[in-house]
Amino acid sequence: MKSFKDIYKGSENKIAGIAAAPGIVIGEVYLFTKEKLEISKADITDVEEAKINFHEALERSKKELTKIFAIAKDRMGVTRAAIFEAQLMILDDPILIGNILKRIEDEKKQPEYIVDDEISKYQQLMILSNESYMKERANDIEDIKNRIVRNLRKKRWQSRIHSDAVIVSDSLTPADILLLSRNQVKSFVTDHGGLTSHAAIISRSLNIPAVCGTHNATQKLKDGQTVIVDGFHGYIIYDPTDEQKSFFKEKHQHLIALQKELEELTDKPAVTKDGKEIQLLANVDVTGEMDVVKTSGANGIGLYRSEQILDELGTIPTEEEQVRIYSKLASRIYPDNITIRAFDIGGDKFRLFDYNEPNPFLGLRGIRLLLENLKLFKAQIRSVLRSSSNKNVQFMLPMISTIDEIHRSKKIIKECMDELSSENKSFDAEMKIGIMVEVPSAAVMTREFADVVDFLSIGTNDLIQYLMAVDRGNDLVADLYQEFSPVVLRTIKKIVDDSKLAGKPVSLCGEMAADTLAMPLLVGLGLESLSISPATIPYAKRIIKSFNYKDAKKMADKCITVCYEAEIEKTILKFFEENDITRTRNII
Ligand code: PEP
Ligand code: MG
Repeated sequence: MKSFKDIYKGSENKIAGIAAAPGIVIGEVYLFTKEKLEISKADITDVEEAKINFHEALERSKKELTKIFAIAKDRMGVTRAAIFEAQLMILDDPILIGNILKRIEDEKKQPEYIVDDEISKYQQLMILSNESYMKERANDIEDIKNRIVRNLRKKRWQSRIHSDAVIVSDSLTPADILLLSRNQVKSFVTDHGGLTSHAAIISRSLNIPAVCGTHNATQKLKDGQTVIVDGFHGYIIYDPTDEQKSFFKEKHQHLIALQKELEELTDKPAVTKDGKEIQLLANVDVTGEMDVVKTSGANGIGLYRSEQILDELGTIPTEEEQVRIYSKLASRIYPDNITIRAFDIGGDKFRLFDYNEPNPFLGLRGIRLLLENLKLFKAQIRSVLRSSSNKNVQFMLPMISTIDEIHRSKKIIKECMDELSSENKSFDAEMKIGIMVEVPSAAVMTREFADVVDFLSIGTNDLIQYLMAVDRGNDLVADLYQEFSPVVLRTIKKIVDDSKLAGKPVSLCGEMAADTLAMPLLVGLGLESLSISPATIPYAKRIIKSFNYKDAKKMADKCITVCYEAEIEKTILKFFEENDITRTRNII
């Protein structure tokens, strides 16, 4: 039977993007090109009438947004609905409204021109910002502008979109997503936007499969065209062949049947047939994912990528802001644990400085940057500590490559603890401190590093890139990025064995842990804890419950003696067949 990999490898009719919200959908394209409003700059004669017209449009816009805000609160919860509350606040901004009214009086131009011009000024500032978060907010402002202009013309938002449509658009605002979702649309595809765009977050929480960042889907696709959207892998297939259609239809049906079965696993532990329990923790990339974590049956949060806050806020949060964020996460996951990773700034992530490093992945990244920026590091340590009073918070250091970095970090953590004690602020004095093992030097030295920390977590995303000297984000060398390379397996085995020798818990939080094909192998290599995206947890439970640990160990022992990746994959596939494990990997 063909795999996803086989299907995509041979397909010319595919568009690649970012897998923004999971699910598989077969539907018809609806090109959602937002009506480009031609703005009139004509002179007016009756200033008073223009001002009344503006006030009425403003009120109508507020009414619409209040309604959207109410729907949003109902469907997404108060926190995420706050985007609309923020939009409502802009409509109440006395400076903006004052400026518009004054310009209507002074310039005697159509109010729609003045509204467009004034709000565009706000937008321009945001677009020019280096932060992706601010750029995303510029889209939200576009929505407000169009709403007021439309209401100045007394038009209503009309939606004639048939249900079951796959919405394909240049970009979508959160309001678009929410209103379109009421038409029961099947999926969203956008040329722009990343995983952290609000549109992506909202699609995930509304459970509508989505692919974003396709660059040219709006140009390649036509209205009414049949497409398959794969929100698991981030692909769109257009004009699917009969073979592709039946492949995805089968996956889709299988997925529906699986959902019910998976829901029943939520409260059950992940235990192999011969009784070995595996902890399944959640990776949290954006704060908006907490709802999914709660329903996924996770045993806690194994990796909270805190640097995401910088992207979400577009700025470095203050200590107090961080305390609020971490405390909320810690209390939501209580009594389970949350592992907050220190800001992993640099590489392909959030940039703190304008300086363009020639090799950012080998540069001032993770712990290296934090140790150079003690103010930033200390504020984060203090806020993590201040959120730890309930003793369910752990702190993890990224990109550790020397033991000295661990000692220096621990010294700073101790200093922060002393400061907080003298300020009478409560914290967990025994808060566990761990490291990511994602640099080859840390893999070589795991035994010694493990002695001076409380826990370890293997970051295969980076470990593979550094072991194989292959950029994790570069298509041209993707063939070399092999998670089943003997180099990777032997290194993982060494890290696991060395951690156990030191008596320290070890987990694995790279994407490899979420690859269901890799799960029996990782369990066989001795891992008792995996941290994966929350949506994958039910699938992982199902896989783990379908094999014996002792058989997985035998298979893993064999794999690490083998020299070729292809042979290792064959051995794993044979294990799946012999153990009659449904290859859930075919589904996700
Ligand atoms: C990793 O490197 O495997 C990891 C989990 O961290 P990130 O993907 O954030 O670099
Ligand atoms: Mg990493």
